[in-house]
Amino acid sequence: MTESQTMESVESFAGRARAWLAGNMPRTEDRGGRHQAATRSDEQELAHIAHCRALQRMLFDGGFAGICVPTDYGGQGLTVAHQEAFNREVRGYEYPADTQVPTFTPCMSVILEFGTHEQKKRHVPPILKGEALWMQFLSEPSGGSDVAGAQTTAVRDGEEWVLNGSKIWTTGAWWADWGLCLVRTNWDVPKHRGLTVFMLEIHQPGIEIHRIEMINGSREFCQEFITDVHVPDSQRIGQIDEGWAVGTRWMYHERTISGGSPYVTSPAGRPAVALDPSGGAVALIPLARSRGWLGDTRVKELIGEAHALALIGNALVHHIGDEISTGATTSQAAAITRLWFGTSGVRNSTICYELLGANAVTWSDEDRDLGQRGIRFLMRQSSCIAGGTTEMARNAISERVLGMPRERTVDKDTPFRDVPRSAPTR
Ligand SMILES: Cc1cc2nc3c(=O)[nH]c(=O)nc-3n(C[C@H](O)[C@H](O)[C@H](O)COP(=O)(O)OP(=O)(O)OC[C@H]3O[C@@H](n4cnc5c(N)ncnc54)[C@H](O)[C@@H]3O)c2cc1C
Repeated sequence: MTESQTMESVESFAGRARAWLAGNMPRTEDRGGRHQAATRSDEQELAHIAHCRALQRMLFDGGFAGICVPTDYGGQGLTVAHQEAFNREVRGYEYPADTQVPTFTPCMSVILEFGTHEQKKRHVPPILKGEALWMQFLSEPSGGSDVAGAQTTAVRDGEEWVLNGSKIWTTGAWWADWGLCLVRTNWDVPKHRGLTVFMLEIHQPGIEIHRIEMINGSREFCQEFITDVHVPDSQRIGQIDEGWAVGTRWMYHERTISGGSPYVTSPAGRPAVALDPSGGAVALIPLARSRGWLGDTRVKELIGEAHALALIGNALVHHIGDEISTGATTSQAAAITRLWFGTSGVRNSTICYELLGANAVTWSDEDRDLGQRGIRFLMRQSSCIAGGTTEMARNAISERVLGMPRERTVDKDTPFRDVPRSAPTR
């Protein structure tokens, strides 16, 4: 009998998920994810991450972790339709919101796509159990958009590689366990041809982590200084010097954080990462009601606009997801949803800010919820930067989806060693 003949139907799975969630998971309010990190102390943040790990373990023990991950690697071996059904059922319940991205996508997605059987056996089950949290070691002080311009270097030494360099803007590296790390292994070929990807244990001698404080008070961003770190060749993902093949798919999986990843658990209609920091119209209505503002025409207009943005976002995720999965368009079209969630995220924060007026900038202790929204406004632009900027998404849409002429590059055929660049920042 084939797997599809024995597979549980989506309806039966959804019913089982509904009963399990009701019996096991605490109810919650959707408060917009990581943006709350700005007002947490380090102790509170660590406790929150430990809580996310525990929730992930509950999902695993309940048989609802890794719904689309093959059973060989600890998952459920089911389909995207099953994951979507779970996403509908999980709305209103706690789930490990802040550890879905980048652990499940892009990191686990890349491991599943490019890892060897042994690598998947070793690394995927701990992810599904909440034991291993992963981060992306991509951006460098010299720039994040030009991913292929990585200057962090790995030099082969027998069965090991020795890494030196620096990565930056790594969200949560101080509490995470593993990093997916893009490095240069060959300086004598053009930049796209000398890259390799490694799995890197974050907390080990030779990796110094510096915290970076942002305008909203959050210290979740980190810069890592990597000095003579030895990594076994068995932790290499993909072929030596062919990391760009991995990197291109990595970028694709990164864009699916706005929606469409089969590996992310996220209540239906909500981006996997809180790119919509206001929480959308759903969160605004009870707020406006509690303040007696619902009769105000301007308030109704703003809530209507947030609602329209949410509806369009949902429709777009489904449409683009379907087009990519049926082959009707290139996977590069994920840049369209990425662009949408970037720009609509900024607008949503602004809608919230306009709606709250003076309450968004001054609040009392009893009004902490209003304060959160004011603080989120300070971070509104991050939705256009995180996961690759919206400018880079526009480039991908014009060049890779619409087929417009490619941007002129001067370093395409030049060995990376000879490409002019700034001195590395230490
Ligand atoms: C909330 C958040 C979380 C993040 N988490 C991580 C993480 O976990 N790991 C990680 O590695 N990075 C992370 N980043 C970093 C992020 O990936 C980079 O900030 C981003 O890729 C841009 O890189 P940069 O800041 O170095 O800007 P640069 O690359 O220096 O770009 C500067 C400006 O120039 C524009 N630009 C550059 N090149 C082009 C071009 N060819 N065409 C048009 N415009 C261009 C950019 O769009 C941008 O506006 C995070 C960022 C944010 C905001």
